[in-house]
Amino acid sequence: MLQHNNLPPCIQTQVPLHDKNWFGTGGLARFFCAPQTAADFQQALVWANEQNIELFILGQGANVLINDDGFDGLIIAPKINHIQIDGNYITAGAGVTMDQLITYCLDHQLLGLEEFSGIPGTVGGSVYINLHYFEFLLEQFLVDAHIINRTTGQIMQVTRDWFNFGYNYSELHNQPWYLFDARFVLKPASKIETAYARGRRTEIIRHRMRRYPSAGTCGSFFRNFHAHEVTFEHNGTKMIHVAYYLDKLGLKGNFRIGGASVSWQHANMIVNNGTATSANIVGVARHMQQTVFDAYGITPQPECILIGFKPNPLLSQPHGV
Ligand SMILES: Cc1cc2nc3c(=O)[nH]c(=O)nc-3n(C[C@H](O)[C@H](O)[C@H](O)COP(=O)(O)OP(=O)(O)OC[C@H]3O[C@@H](n4cnc5c(N)ncnc54)[C@H](O)[C@@H]3O)c2cc1C
Repeated sequence: MLQHNNLPPCIQTQVPLHDKNWFGTGGLARFFCAPQTAADFQQALVWANEQNIELFILGQGANVLINDDGFDGLIIAPKINHIQIDGNYITAGAGVTMDQLITYCLDHQLLGLEEFSGIPGTVGGSVYINLHYFEFLLEQFLVDAHIINRTTGQIMQVTRDWFNFGYNYSELHNQPWYLFDARFVLKPASKIETAYARGRRTEIIRHRMRRYPSAGTCGSFFRNFHAHEVTFEHNGTKMIHVAYYLDKLGLKGNFRIGGASVSWQHANMIVNNGTATSANIVGVARHMQQTVFDAYGITPQPECILIGFKPNPLLSQPHGV
């Protein structure tokens, strides 16, 4: 049993999480901390290590699903919100949202990041996943970063190479470090170029609103397949897009459990109509996996990060053999 009397002041107990993620579901965090300074961040990490409790770092919760039973450990949601400019370089804390960062860049006539307009998330979560939209990847803009050690709270500077970025991947998935802040290089622009970029931003958001659900979802639930995982070809091209299979199998807008359903706008997105539980969402996701497996022998794997689920409630790859 944990002693609560040595809780650092920045840590709260029994904190609801349904209002801290985009699905809008999930139970309570046993411990919760939203550090605004490096010192509070370090103190929370060291405390969790001393107490030997499970740790999870949460951004804006745009790519997570939290168990209805909550999380029996410490959730740290960094509010490290500094933004600094130096010529065409911008440093942003892990808690800055991409929307805030893009606005700041455009206000300073720096272009590039507006390609990610309309995608929810913090700098921390976005570096973690190497945020992607069509041919743009966040790694194309990142120069270096400060990372913070999960157990000691030590802060270290690293360059882009450290992250070993890939599709949906950064070294933050494997290493005992979290992102503290990141520095991006952007393209200086004239006033007129910036005005065009603002127009593009508006157009991207408008386009996204038409194509994808924008609330009660985590975006794409499953990652696309890697080429080596698939054999099915269409017009001589390997079909890696998981939405292609889900759409072909008629799941789009057509499968529901409780308040959770496959979006009618996008076959790889699950939406909560406001009444879903996380268990409903898991049920829909498992059905999507099983349907693709039965038809094609491959099992979609989540891009969405599951929090507080033990054991993994989804189907692993390979299964059924
Ligand atoms: C409507 C919608 C549309 C979306 N469209 C896209 C899209 O087009 N392209 C795309 O790539 N994604 C998309 N996503 C997914 C999501 O926006 C991104 O994954 C985003 O980067 C998540 O950021 P977050 O701060 O919300 O992270 P969270 O969802 O809170 O966390 C995601 C992961 O990042 C880790 N993490 C968070 N902060 C840190 C940190 N400081 N250090 C280390 N790890 C950290 C968490 O531990 C977790 O594993 C979409 C999501 C939604 C809801």
